[in-house]
Amino acid sequence: MKGNGFLPYGRQWVEDDDVEAVIAALRSDFLTTGPMVARFETAFAEKVGAKHAICCNSGTAGLHLAMLAARLGPGDLAVVPSVTFLATANAVRYVGADVVFADVDPESGLITAESLTAALESARRREGRVRAVLPVHLKGVPADMETITAIAEAADLTIVEDAAHAVGTRYGGGRYQVGANHHAAMTVFSTHPVKTMTTAEGGVVTTERDDLARDLRKFRSHGMEADPSGGPWYYEMSELGYNYRMPDINCALGLSQLAKLDRFLARRAELVARYDRLLAPLAPLLRIPKRPADAEPGWHLYAAQIDFAAAGVTRATLMARLREDGIGTQVHYIPLHWQPYYRDRYGELSLPGAEAFYQGTLALPLYPSMHDDDVDRVAERVAWHLQHPAGRQGGEA
Ligand SMILES: *Cc1c(COP(=O)(O)O)cnc(C)c1O
Repeated sequence: MKGNGFLPYGRQWVEDDDVEAVIAALRSDFLTTGPMVARFETAFAEKVGAKHAICCNSGTAGLHLAMLAARLGPGDLAVVPSVTFLATANAVRYVGADVVFADVDPESGLITAESLTAALESARRREGRVRAVLPVHLKGVPADMETITAIAEAADLTIVEDAAHAVGTRYGGGRYQVGANHHAAMTVFSTHPVKTMTTAEGGVVTTERDDLARDLRKFRSHGMEADPSGGPWYYEMSELGYNYRMPDINCALGLSQLAKLDRFLARRAELVARYDRLLAPLAPLLRIPKRPADAEPGWHLYAAQIDFAAAGVTRATLMARLREDGIGTQVHYIPLHWQPYYRDRYGELSLPGAEAFYQGTLALPLYPSMHDDDVDRVAERVAWHLQHPAGRQGGEA
């Protein structure tokens, strides 16, 4: 099979039938809040094994809706791992609650039972009550939800999973599926184009609870609820909501993409297995992504841990050299507790696991339209650069 040209670290796969589905929606009577919304929600809920799926116009909006439905507000605290996208913590701030940053496992980047316990301990010195925890399944690798749930239940916390990376992830030896809320009140997905399936912009929140589903729908649309007892036109707004609705056009794309999700996931798993096989011999200079033995990640990112000091090359230099080779890479993520906004608000924190993870992480290209040859080329170039830190001519590259 012939390889691709420049390889970004991730990209969507939109095919002709996806395009046709969007065109059909554009030609229909509804551009937004038509029949495609319910169809997409029903299909998504079925796919992840949830009772309810509520779609909205971004993963970030989904996190905000979840915080509203969880009734978090000023005076409340929520635990968020420091290694995640900004949106996980920002959603806590949108409702006026405050963030308690948890450390992560330095190898996986995931929140752990120990780091959650330590975060709860540190929160005792803060004003306010810890009411929620938002575990993030970084790269699609599941956090240890069974131990996290035990701690969260003892502390009376609402669990909201940030599953932006983890559509299709299973854990517990196949017993549990992310999105089915075995260990959460709500799970939030993103359907941004870099994620595993796309609606362009979009998000989906799943829950098993009817009351939360009703709240999520209410907050998605201005806080409005129809009440036919007041007449066919009548609605009431009892609480402040937003316009976070997903258009029918995007839902049509989502439905079409959802039908291919198994194929996308299977191809991602094949590519990951190929990377693992080719890159494992580079240990300990490069370590393949850590995952629990009983997990089946819905792989979103292939992020290796690299010992740049031992290799004698900086991450910036390696990224630049790979770019010259036509290979895009990315870093997920700069620890949130280092962001000026959060540093100003919560002061200097020391989270050594997050800092160690950040120093070593590098995401290599991973998306389902990659060819085997592409993986071979990336693995070969990464190995070469790590073994020739001085560059091509023994000098500047
Ligand atoms: C992408 C992402 C989000 C936000 O999703 P959007 O759809 O881009 O708003 C939240 N959390 C994580 C971990 C993400 O990667």
